[in-house]
Amino acid sequence: MEFLEEIFENLQIPKIEDFKKVMVISPHPDDAEIAIGGTVAKLSDSGAEIVYVIATDGSLGTRDPDLPREALALRRKEEQSKAAEVLGVKEMIWLGFEDGGDYAHEKVRSYLVNIIRDYKPQLVMTTDPTLRYEFHPDHIKVGKAASEAVLFYQFPHFESPKPRAVEETIQAIGYFFTPKPNTFVCIDEFRDKKIEAIQKHESQMGGGMETLLWYLSRKENFHGKNAGCEYAEAIRIMPTLALHAFAEGELI
Ligand code: ZN
Repeated sequence: MEFLEEIFENLQIPKIEDFKKVMVISPHPDDAEIAIGGTVAKLSDSGAEIVYVIATDGSLGTRDPDLPREALALRRKEEQSKAAEVLGVKEMIWLGFEDGGDYAHEKVRSYLVNIIRDYKPQLVMTTDPTLRYEFHPDHIKVGKAASEAVLFYQFPHFESPKPRAVEETIQAIGYFFTPKPNTFVCIDEFRDKKIEAIQKHESQMGGGMETLLWYLSRKENFHGKNAGCEYAEAIRIMPTLALHAFAEGELI
């Protein structure tokens, strides 16, 4: 393990709380609040600039056959704006892919590469596409698209009709909904905001939301033990260098 410790010392990856420009790339409206709402509130409270990129329109999120998809998509946009406001997120970018749709992840990647080049985040957070029992294709495709975008944005000839020099800003990727967390963020002071933000997604209330909130609190208590506090969120931080041809990535 000395070898790994030496590697991480040399990479000098900041603590998550020290990142000042963060991009959160989510498959659906509500994923970011549920998985890392406390972390987002904590980062924005400490002065970080946070942008949300939401890949799909959320139009599958209902059991009501009489609610048209377009109407639900509009409603979910409004709910997401309110939730983002609670957490201090000022900017949102919607890619507009169809929720549960038959799109290729490369299409998402192509948008993300250029958004990353323009926005210049230091940390990108997204769903962990390696979660073995995740069967929602949007969660797998978006996590994969974001990871590949983080790998490729620095190459000027990739997805760019007019290649230009690219500033390499991203130091790490942070995975949420991850089976292998390595970072536990204390959210005791921000938990009320997280719950308030989740509840802004009114169209998703009922139908298991109570169970979800109970599950989240138990899980955050469990992770809190790793962080020395009552509630913590679990994230897997990977240095960008570890995203390709780095066999020790599993061990981070
Ligand atoms: Zn989702």
